[in-house]
Amino acid sequence: CGIVGYVGNRPALSIVLDGLRRLEYRGYDSAGVAILDGDVVQTEKRAGKLANLEKALAERSGDGIAAGVAGIGHTRWATHGGPTDRNAHPHLSADGRVAVIHNGIIENFAKLRAELEASGIEFRSDTDTECAAHLLAAEMRSLRESGAESGPALLAEGMRRTVRRLEGAFTLLAVDVEVPGAVVAARRNSPLVVGRGDGENFLASDVSAFIEHTREAIELGQDQVVLITPAGIEITDFDGAPATGTDFHIDWDA
Ligand code: GLU
Repeated sequence: CGIVGYVGNRPALSIVLDGLRRLEYRGYDSAGVAILDGDVVQTEKRAGKLANLEKALAERSGDGIAAGVAGIGHTRWATHGGPTDRNAHPHLSADGRVAVIHNGIIENFAKLRAELEASGIEFRSDTDTECAAHLLAAEMRSLRESGAESGPALLAEGMRRTVRRLEGAFTLLAVDVEVPGAVVAARRNSPLVVGRGDGENFLASDVSAFIEHTREAIELGQDQVVLITPAGIEITDFDGAPATGTDFHIDWDA
């Protein structure tokens, strides 16, 4: 029910957790994070309150989850699959290279899941969301195989190709380990705002998640994809045509 993304030069984990805390008022049953750490995506997810997630994070050591500078975080209000650890977001592609979080409902997930299972993919959750992780990973793989240069622009194209196959309501955020320093997002029938920072940028379902860091925001329009890197914010429609959101300044007190 809450979504946060960060890319910049500060550790993403604490910014993402703070953001999720500020979205707690919306209600949720599970929480999780995915942080880019060199050549791996580090994830942690737990049913229950954020405190459960924080406890699990505190028990970790020896990996870079607390240091990575790009990441995404989610609080879930279960619609497909019970509120369990395994159904909590993020959901990973089979190779663990792509992580996705989602608010909303992917209406055609059963058909997509059947198609993905027929291609040999084993699902690890009961959610509608997981199919988006597998689809995005497949799109990234086929883009790379076609010789396209890896980088943030490729991640945005992979997301556009993915969301063109989805029906329903979604705010989706994703990271790909091959594309460090970028977070991509898409929205249809579900809210998404960008926070414009200085050498860092934010994504959230609600500005309260990043208001302590920036008051310059962009509300995304319907059916838009946004790519954030430390240096930039690029918005397109689902077909790749340049698009603009609605810029606004947050002048109320958090
Ligand atoms: N439909 C997804 C799920 O059940 C996302 C729910 C949400 O909006 O948090 O996992």
